[in-house]
Amino acid sequence: MSDSVYPKEYLRFLKGRQPQMLATLRKLVCCESPSFEKSAADRCCALLAAEWRKRGARVEQIAQKHRGDHLRVTWSPHKSRPAGQLLVLGHYDTVYASGTLAKMPFRVSGGKAYGPGVFDMKAGLVQALFALETLQQSRAALRKRLVFLWTSDEEIGSYSSRKLIEAEARRSDAVFVLEPSFGPRGLLKTSRKGVGDAELIVYGRASHAGLAPQEGVNAVHELAQQITRLQKWNDLRHGVTINANIVEGGTRSNVIADRARAVLDLRALRVTDMRRIERRLRALRPILPGARLEIRGGFNRAPLERKVSAALFARAKTLAAQMGLSLGECMAGGGSDGNFTAALGIPTLDGLGAVGDGAHSAREFIYINAMPARAALLTALLASTWRRHFLNGALTKW
Ligand SMILES: [Zn+2]
Repeated sequence: MSDSVYPKEYLRFLKGRQPQMLATLRKLVCCESPSFEKSAADRCCALLAAEWRKRGARVEQIAQKHRGDHLRVTWSPHKSRPAGQLLVLGHYDTVYASGTLAKMPFRVSGGKAYGPGVFDMKAGLVQALFALETLQQSRAALRKRLVFLWTSDEEIGSYSSRKLIEAEARRSDAVFVLEPSFGPRGLLKTSRKGVGDAELIVYGRASHAGLAPQEGVNAVHELAQQITRLQKWNDLRHGVTINANIVEGGTRSNVIADRARAVLDLRALRVTDMRRIERRLRALRPILPGARLEIRGGFNRAPLERKVSAALFARAKTLAAQMGLSLGECMAGGGSDGNFTAALGIPTLDGLGAVGDGAHSAREFIYINAMPARAALLTALLASTWRRHFLNGALTKW
């Protein structure tokens, strides 16, 4: 083990900082930051920026026209020239519209903290802030530049931040994602499904259902048959799902429908499966004579495959064990910005954020006691992820 990484000391220090962590969390949660409301989101962004500036980090606000500004925070080791960089990734937007706090206030009860976005993922941001503080206070010999990227639109697909995330990831040797962990034991997310949505539009021909049925091409019938076809592509065992979750079509009961559409949710655990589904979707041909099909959309996030996180996870497990904690892992059915960085082949470890439950719901909460340990784990990872020996194998980047 490295002579300059002391997970137990980090944990001891952070346990003493728990009240300050909770106070910072309260401030952040009480500053609502819905993805769709720029001015509200910007207020939260400014609050975050101030917290990092207070600790001496370099802060750049990356202005956005329609979404909240993104925040890029840099911390470089004092002594040596940094040899590469580590990226810590998170989002400060939430799925809750302004005013949610009135019905769902920040509150602490029974060792838990409740409030909109507390688990997904404001507690994660607080943990990162205190991880930096710990690095500053400790004897950790940081070798790499640390970049913390806090974005404003993860909950709505990261359309304004994706390029920034990918550019920053390309410069990084590893990416740590502060999305919530899973379950009461706080499992890390070592694989995530790729996610997408596609629209299947069917064009038929309208006709009087009684007077001239032979002249019509029924788009609803065509769509129904296509959906039956798509349903057979589901392969739960291998993590492939295709679900038509919205359907609409037709105009009146006595007019043969000339248009119908379905919106499909697409998920796959492996990149090869994702590509195969996209190929098959593009190759769909009509079943009824005279019908025409159009496919729009596809996968937005590629799968985060386990091989990209395996080495970092093994490292995290060892560091956690030194603090007396056992760390587990799981697969997540949903995507995150970690999917983008993993798709570039950059070692990525996700689910390093808070321990809690109820994301995107009125009962969203975190376990307050878990905050210091999670922050200590991140501190230890940042302090020690410069050694080549623990990232061997498939990770060519190293
Ligand atoms: Zn999230």
